Amino acid sequence: MRKLMTLMLAGALAMPVATVAADEVVVYSARKEHLIKPLFDKYTEQTGVNIRYITDKAGPLLQRLKAEGKRTPADMLITVDAGNLWTAANAGVLANIDSKVLAANIPANLRDPEGRWYGLSVRARTIAYNTDRVKPSELTTYEDLADPKWEGRVCLRTSKKVYNQSLVATLIARHGEDKAEQIVKGWVANLAAPPFSNDTKALQAVAAGKCDVTIVNTYYYGRLAKKQPDLNVKLFWPNQKTSGVHVNVSGAGVTAHAKHPAAAQRLLEWLSSPQAQQMFGALNMEYPANPAVAPDAAVQAWGAFKADDLNVSEAGRLQATAIKLMDRAGYR
Ligand code: FE
Repeated sequence: MRKLMTLMLAGALAMPVATVAADEVVVYSARKEHLIKPLFDKYTEQTGVNIRYITDKAGPLLQRLKAEGKRTPADMLITVDAGNLWTAANAGVLANIDSKVLAANIPANLRDPEGRWYGLSVRARTIAYNTDRVKPSELTTYEDLADPKWEGRVCLRTSKKVYNQSLVATLIARHGEDKAEQIVKGWVANLAAPPFSNDTKALQAVAAGKCDVTIVNTYYYGRLAKKQPDLNVKLFWPNQKTSGVHVNVSGAGVTAHAKHPAAAQRLLEWLSSPQAQQMFGALNMEYPANPAVAPDAAVQAWGAFKADDLNVSEAGRLQATAIKLMDRAGYR
């Protein structure tokens, strides 16, 4: 059995056969390698704890954790979007972690009420507009993008992406299903083009004047603006007099069948610490989840905003309802 597990571990991670050492943590990450490796390297440098990891999309990683069950080599799951974290917790693959450090570092609305996952970075999903065609004074709320005055002017990413499912889930939490459906129908009626496969394409369509506004995660804007300093697109912070900007998280949890649960918890706690949080946010132009840590200068330059303080786990709880609603509203 031990030999089998070692072989599986080696095969799974495509690494040399090694015995399971005490000072190591095995991570499954839906966050891309270039966004996590610098953190892991820093942790290893400071603690001597070895971190082995694989990266894949959120769905396949969860399937793998479920299929492996008790035999999983994974101690920690890192994934993006509260919807995915909620789904993983709901599938029973994450352990409840009761940690004073995590409770102090991560605000309550950015973590699972049952302690199965903790947000480690905050991503703001906000409105982006074409500066040649829209005055910021014309913009107010996500809800207002359903108004007929935006007819033929809106671009959106596909409803298949969990980011939009989470955004619609918060509309449901805030307004109830009927009103949320009217809002989404309004967005669809105002579309200038069929939904795009990713946020960057939606931003490029806005830049090209194909549409005037879209809704994106700010780090995609940050990447594009870095490449095109003269980009004719800006960010707008909606709902400042109401619910605040929709925020979501990337986050992590210790697996239910971790072989190194204590070491994994220590790594998770370290990831919530100021030093790690600064890196975690800056690597992808996101906002640190730990409120004691300021965002990177480039991110700060976009300005301060009021964020929605709804617990992000609501996005998970209402995800299935949101998917059905978007389908009824004709949002593809
Ligand atoms: Fe993303």
